Amino acid sequence: MTAELEALRAENEALRAKLAAVRRIPELPAEHKGVPIEWRRWEPAPFILCERAGDLNGCPQCDHPGPSLLTFGLAGPGKPLIRFNAHRCPSCEETCVYERRYDKYRIGAELVEIAYWAPKATAQP
Ligand SMILES: [Zn+2]
Repeated sequence: MTAELEALRAENEALRAKLAAVRRIPELPAEHKGVPIEWRRWEPAPFILCERAGDLNGCPQCDHPGPSLLTFGLAGPGKPLIRFNAHRCPSCEETCVYERRYDKYRIGAELVEIAYWAPKATAQP
């Protein structure tokens, strides 16, 4: 019985060490400048067909053919609107988080990067 217990303890310790070494996907920011962000689920990004711009669907870091993963972040003030978006490569996990800024002189949003994780980045504990 004691030997069995010792074996289980050793196995438990080995598994804990393995788990500690596994990389964790970084969490998306929970807030920006004090405003909480509610993130939607990650979804495959829409496939972009644009001959002039070349292939926009693959990952420039690791050559994953895509699609990348996309999510939107909703935030106030007032009624929460889509004010953030994030892209992640499903292979190397390079991740960019953008604030979407709007002004009346522009069609669409200006994307301002607010967070970035390099390929295969590990989360800070
Ligand atoms: Zn990649």
